[in-house]
Amino acid sequence: VGSVMTPEEVVALRKAHFFPCTQHFYKNPPVLVSGSMQHVTDGEGKAYTDFFAGVSVVATGHCNPAIAEATVRQARKLQHTTTIYLTEPSAKLAKRMSELLPAYPRVFFCNSGSEANEGALVLARRHTKRRGFISLTESLHGRTSLTTSVTGLQMWRTDPFPDDHVYFIPRPYAYGVDPQEAAKRSLSALEDVLREAGDNIAAMIVEPIQGNGGMIVMPEGYLARAKKMLESYGVLLIADEIQTGFGRTGQLLASQQLGVQADIVTMAKALGGGIPIGAFAATEEVAASLNVPSASTFGGNPISAETALAVLDYIESENLPERAARLGSALKLGLERMRVFYPHIVSEVRGLGLMLGAELYAEDPTYGAMMTDRVLEEMKDRGFLIGKNGVSRNVLAFQPPIVIEASDIELMLEALDAVLGAIEQERLTVTEKEQGGESEASASNRQP
Ligand code: PMP
Repeated sequence: VGSVMTPEEVVALRKAHFFPCTQHFYKNPPVLVSGSMQHVTDGEGKAYTDFFAGVSVVATGHCNPAIAEATVRQARKLQHTTTIYLTEPSAKLAKRMSELLPAYPRVFFCNSGSEANEGALVLARRHTKRRGFISLTESLHGRTSLTTSVTGLQMWRTDPFPDDHVYFIPRPYAYGVDPQEAAKRSLSALEDVLREAGDNIAAMIVEPIQGNGGMIVMPEGYLARAKKMLESYGVLLIADEIQTGFGRTGQLLASQQLGVQADIVTMAKALGGGIPIGAFAATEEVAASLNVPSASTFGGNPISAETALAVLDYIESENLPERAARLGSALKLGLERMRVFYPHIVSEVRGLGLMLGAELYAEDPTYGAMMTDRVLEEMKDRGFLIGKNGVSRNVLAFQPPIVIEASDIELMLEALDAVLGAIEQERLTVTEKEQGGESEASASNRQP
């Protein structure tokens, strides 16, 4: 393989030429140069098992031969013309998606998650002829102006002049609070907003599992009850399935798995397996409201569409949703074990399927964020890439390619055990020094 550039050289170029917002994970970041299914390799030839998958993107694996072959075949045949001309791949993809997701028979193709959400929000405005939106605190829906306006996470609200017709209600989660109690509070806030402004609200947008917000699964029954309330005010529900979609949680759509059918569903990331594509799909009735000319230059281009068809074939033929549920249970069990072993470090384990989070030091999130970075760095040195998210960036994020093996999970958990074990040992040593006496560890380590 061999990269000609060192990490320092790449960092220097990014610093010199990217906008100042540029960031990267790790104090000593590797330069990733190649990938194969659940593995990536850096310029020095060191291999890593990827437990982040580019934030859910490469669900079907890096450079999966079945998918890369479809991309390359199409790139050699016809790359692009305009979506106004007829080509086969996007038409086939639309048919395929409506068969897989019969609740959403109409689809509009675009190029990213932000663009899919933006389109869904505009569609909701057209359909209801209302301007306002409801969103959850700590949500993330994109980087365009309207999608940052409905984004609750402060760090992603980059537009200094957000749309001010957005009502935020508390997400149905608080650390240490019973999920049903948190759901009740959130729904009661929803009721208040609807009573006050329901006639001016087009849609509520929700991630079935808040990804960036720290792997927060919408509690049982929450989405269905919210949907009912929204319906009584003529407000649409948009399910943002950009991180959750296409099998990661155990079914093709997490919203359906959590018991709700939205009016509009938005998708991106995993659908292209690494090639940019976004889509929003809707019921016949709602889709009918996009009745003015609207098309995207690259949305549904032959290369993206042909790739997405291969992704969907692979998800179906390999039964990836079932695999995500099965391997996700094993991973979750392992992480729960870490919480039991290291209760001072791991506060909570959350998630569904292969979209899991482990929050560190929930009661001291600033320290937790520092320790999360340390865990990420040491896990990387041991050959495992894991992610981080959460309001305070103190949640370890596990969302690997779904093609990962049970043995990879076991090895990762062993490494994590070693990393957390060393941190725990340090904590015990410090506690012992502070107390000027014996800790449990030193006492139990001493020979009789
Ligand atoms: N919605 C969710 C839930 C996301 O996680 C993201 C990206 N992390 C987006 C929307 C925006 O997608 P994109 O970066 O493709 O514009």
